[in-house]
Amino acid sequence: MDGSFILEDILPPARDVLQNQGFKPDSEIRDRITALFNDAMELFKKSANPQGIIAEISIKEFAVIYEGESKNDIDNPLIRIFPQADYLALFALTMGEEVSTNIETLFQKNDFPVVYMLDTIASLAADNAAELYQGKYMKSLTEENYDTVENYVLAYSPGYCGWHISGQKKMFEYLKPEKIGITLNDSFLMKPLKSVSGVLIAGKKKIHIFPINFYFCQYCKTKSCRQRIKSLTVA
Ligand code: SF4
Repeated sequence: MDGSFILEDILPPARDVLQNQGFKPDSEIRDRITALFNDAMELFKKSANPQGIIAEISIKEFAVIYEGESKNDIDNPLIRIFPQADYLALFALTMGEEVSTNIETLFQKNDFPVVYMLDTIASLAADNAAELYQGKYMKSLTEENYDTVENYVLAYSPGYCGWHISGQKKMFEYLKPEKIGITLNDSFLMKPLKSVSGVLIAGKKKIHIFPINFYFCQYCKTKSCRQRIKSLTVA
C-alpha cells in the first residue's frame, strides 16, 4: 500500500490546537493568540515535508516484532488484540527534519509562544497522519471486500500502553524507514522528533475494546484509549 499523503489533509484546525493547549471550547480567543497560531501554521506549512511508509505483515511475523527486546509489560491491550487481527501493517511517518530543526532553533532563541504553538501543530499533524493511515488501510482492505460494518482499523504505537519503546528496533529492521529519513537513537527515540510509528490492526471492532484495568493505567493522565474506543463504537 502506498504510504504517501498530502500536507493539507493533516493540518490541525485552530480549535484543536488551542484546545490541546488548554483553551476551553467556548473560550474567547484574543487576536494575539490567533495571530500566533497563524504565524506558527505558516511556518509549519513552509517547513513540513510529510512522508510515510506502510508494509503489511503477518501475525506470526508481527509476534516476533512485538516481542522486541523482551521489555513489554506481561499483560497489555496489544498482546490481547493482535492475535485476533484479520490483517496487520507496520507504518512510520514523519513531518520531516526541518520542522524539528525550527522548533529547536526557536527554543534556543527563547521564542516560547511560537515554539509552543509550532510544536503543538506538528504533533497534532503527525497524529492526524496516523489517523489518516487508519482510514487509508481500511479503504484498501474494503476494495478487497473487507466488511466495514463489523471491522475497524486502529493504530498502536511502541512506547504506549505496555508495548515498550524498544519495540521500535525490530520494527525498524522490518520497515526500514531510514529510506524516508527516520532513524532511531540509542534510546529508541525517532529522529526527526515529529514522527509516529506503529502497527495498524484490522479486525472485528470488539477486539479493540478493553477495560482499563492494566496496572500502568493508574499512571495514565490522558486515558486516550477511551476516545478511540468511543469513536469506533459510533462509527
Ligand atoms: S488508560 Fe491509558 S495506559 Fe491504560 S490502556 Fe488507556 S491509554 Fe493506555
